[in-house]
Amino acid sequence: MKYISTRGQIRGISFKDAVMMGLADDGGLLLPEEIPSLTHGDLAALEMLDYQELAFQIISRFATDIPSVDLKNLIDRSYATFTHPEVTPVVKKDGLYILELFHGPTLAFKDVALQFLGNLFEYLLAERGEKMNIIGATSGDTGSAAIYGVRGKQNINIFILHPHQKVSPVQELQMTTVTDPNVFNVAIRGTFDDGQQIVKDIFGDLAFKSRYALGAVNSINFARILAQVVYYFYAYTRVHRQTGCKQVEFSVPTGNFGDIFAGYIAMRMGLPIRRLILATNENNILSRFVQKGDYSIDAVKATLSPSMDIQLASNFERYLYYLHNGDTAMITKEMETFRQTGKLSFSAESVARVSEDFLTCTVDTDQTIETIRKFHAETGYILDPHTAVGVSAGQRVGSNDCPVICLATAHPAKFTEAVNRAIGQDPKRPASLDKLEQRERRCELLDADIGVIRTFIEKNAL
Ligand SMILES: *Cc1c(COP(=O)(O)O)cnc(C)c1O
Repeated sequence: MKYISTRGQIRGISFKDAVMMGLADDGGLLLPEEIPSLTHGDLAALEMLDYQELAFQIISRFATDIPSVDLKNLIDRSYATFTHPEVTPVVKKDGLYILELFHGPTLAFKDVALQFLGNLFEYLLAERGEKMNIIGATSGDTGSAAIYGVRGKQNINIFILHPHQKVSPVQELQMTTVTDPNVFNVAIRGTFDDGQQIVKDIFGDLAFKSRYALGAVNSINFARILAQVVYYFYAYTRVHRQTGCKQVEFSVPTGNFGDIFAGYIAMRMGLPIRRLILATNENNILSRFVQKGDYSIDAVKATLSPSMDIQLASNFERYLYYLHNGDTAMITKEMETFRQTGKLSFSAESVARVSEDFLTCTVDTDQTIETIRKFHAETGYILDPHTAVGVSAGQRVGSNDCPVICLATAHPAKFTEAVNRAIGQDPKRPASLDKLEQRERRCELLDADIGVIRTFIEKNAL
């Protein structure tokens, strides 16, 4: 399997090279040159497999340059850190299916991809005799999942900037209690945007970037998408085994369009998904796109589901590649237009094509709280605010003649404030958060100044 950039200037590169490149060198995003398709027989065979075996069947079709034994080993190690034997179990509640993606070390679905990516980086760096210094800014979830993905790994150091005292207490502790020598937590005296700008500027200094072999872990890496394709298949096989259904729908709480794009790949591979439900909070640029072809940037609003408070959906360009039938010249032009004007518009024909694959729904703060409250009253099950956005959308626009599977993207114990507001009690803390407050911490408090951060990286980089 070879990989191509959405902007067309990179073609024919291997999976391994695509993983190491991250963002394509022409500024686009990497995709497989063709999407492998599964027959009915293939699908039936998947039903017999456990999560790790199924992951191998899916990932090996894309990572054709990694020997099977090595790939199996990477997958087994990546999911050994999950506390549930099924890795991503499906539970049925109130007529809906909940796909629990939060049994990883940081209790959010990003672990599914970042545990795999951490192991994959370590494997590829060892093979190449190279080192990597990962740098990222976080508002909470991605940073801790990335830290847990690479803690203790060989030839990788990671520097994660978070805004001092502006992430939730649980999120801060999850990051700063990781004291492995290759992990550098930096609290900056500033905002998330300051951190992101510093990281951007550091990556923009190409000499510095190559001298310190800087790497990124944001959702532009195709390996992250790939690891997420797996659980769409896994959930389908479990629900199909129980119900014999011909099709399913998935409701996906969406921010950067990474998770739902993995569902789109699964659909193109032949998984019988009738429609993908794109659920957003008030930051609904993607909802407006699906509804009326209006993709125009708005100011970011803070909501109860902060990991979805995003306007620039970095994976959207990948979907455009398929919507425009692989016309890379057109995508290059469109992305330039978007950069200049902050908006894109689409023909009625394109909007019609989008609606064949997607339904959408915007869920506001009151509806999110009400969904958590009602779901708990009726089933005893506690939803986190991100999952509640997906559940509410699934209940409102999902079909009633086929199973609707809602992706549960975070454990409610990560977002106690919203949960408490809805049901007047805190969710039970899972074991991984036990005695979090008492653990040893390591974190550097620095000014939000690029010079200061660069000096810190120079001092501690591999
Ligand atoms: C990142 C995140 C999302 C959004 O996923 P995207 O891939 O960015 O669309 C939803 N819920 C939680 C809890 C997240 O951490």
